[in-house]
Amino acid sequence: MTRYPEIQFESKEAIKSFQEEKLKIALKYLSENSKFYQKMFVEHRIDINGINTLLDLQKIPVTTKQDLQLYNADFICVPKDEIIDYVTTSGTLGEPVTFVLTDKDLDRLSYNEFLSFSTTGCTREDVLQLMTTIDRRFMAGLAYFMGARELGMGVARVGNGMPELQWDTIGRINSNCGMIVPSFLMKLIDFAEKNGIDYNNSTLQKCICIGEALRTPDTFELNTLGKKIHEKWPNMKLYSTYASTEMQSSFTDCEHFCGGHLQPELIIVEFLDDNNQPVPEGEPGEVTITNLGVTGMPLLRFKTGDVCYHYTDSCKCGRNTTRLSSILGRKGQMIKFKGTTLYPPALFDILDNIQDIHNYVVEVYTNDLGTDEILVRLSSSLQTKEFEKSVKDLFRSKVRVAPTIRFESAEYISKVQQPPTSRKLVKFIDLR
Ligand SMILES: [Zn+2]
Repeated sequence: MTRYPEIQFESKEAIKSFQEEKLKIALKYLSENSKFYQKMFVEHRIDINGINTLLDLQKIPVTTKQDLQLYNADFICVPKDEIIDYVTTSGTLGEPVTFVLTDKDLDRLSYNEFLSFSTTGCTREDVLQLMTTIDRRFMAGLAYFMGARELGMGVARVGNGMPELQWDTIGRINSNCGMIVPSFLMKLIDFAEKNGIDYNNSTLQKCICIGEALRTPDTFELNTLGKKIHEKWPNMKLYSTYASTEMQSSFTDCEHFCGGHLQPELIIVEFLDDNNQPVPEGEPGEVTITNLGVTGMPLLRFKTGDVCYHYTDSCKCGRNTTRLSSILGRKGQMIKFKGTTLYPPALFDILDNIQDIHNYVVEVYTNDLGTDEILVRLSSSLQTKEFEKSVKDLFRSKVRVAPTIRFESAEYISKVQQPPTSRKLVKFIDLR
């Protein structure tokens, strides 16, 4: 693909017309190669020549996770011998879906991470320590490696977990930048403290974080997890990047930490309500994406299930691209509890803030009245009525309602959190 990274810094109007040109190419490609979209265009009498602006996208139905699950193969646009990489979605909601990438898609993915690293200010002078998995059918791990290579950074592929090996690597190669799930940073700190490693004076001083929010969606202040890391390791700069297998593109913080920047060459994003109508800035909307330049399995108006705020004002970094807040939660995980709408991350943020909780899982189920109930299973050395009351009071003060609390052993929680097929730590269990 032709590369034009400068587009991020052009005017909003220029970005819009740039994307509209790319959209026409994407629509033509889908109409020629995608069984799923060919059928959709016929069924809904959509003439792609009538889709010329970003606003015109609203004439096209959205694509859902269920569509992907039911018609997985119909989304593939290339013959089998053009497929190089097979990956799956994380399967946080429902069954994982297979995605295929062509040679061109891998180049595009590499470029995406090149742009993402560049947005955080990384250069070829930096040495990246990859603390995420690169296998297990995970798209992003490979993307990070390729993007770092394209930028010319050094990379050490350590993989996830293994604090001892992480510190050994930092000591050996003086890596200064980590690619990491942020709660693992707490584990690195813990290991360093127990083993006399002066982490604040180590070379690692910047991390690009995935999977968990570090800042609040509305004010961009550090959330509980972000503050905990910052208190221990004040020199550590914490960038967030948000992406998914379906998007094949990232939204990444710049040095002003006010939301992840969109890459206009790679993706169009809309923010929709339950009726698929666009929400105004400042209201939560479901991230809905259209891939640009994807050849293996491109998606059109795909509803990701992630809900966030968006911002369109110019950023101090000079970029004029739309920015996304951290994710409030996943649409399918929305909890309606005693008249309040909640997403699991808000509950995690409260629980993470309580020092005496060792670990926890949040369960949601439907009660006899057909409404949602929340049960927090937690382990703590303080298994007293007073402690339970203080936890409930904290919930009431933060989200107005208090869940049921049940004490469990730390071993039990650990086991529940790590089912063998999951790539992520499970903190939320939906039994509805
Ligand atoms: Zn910026």
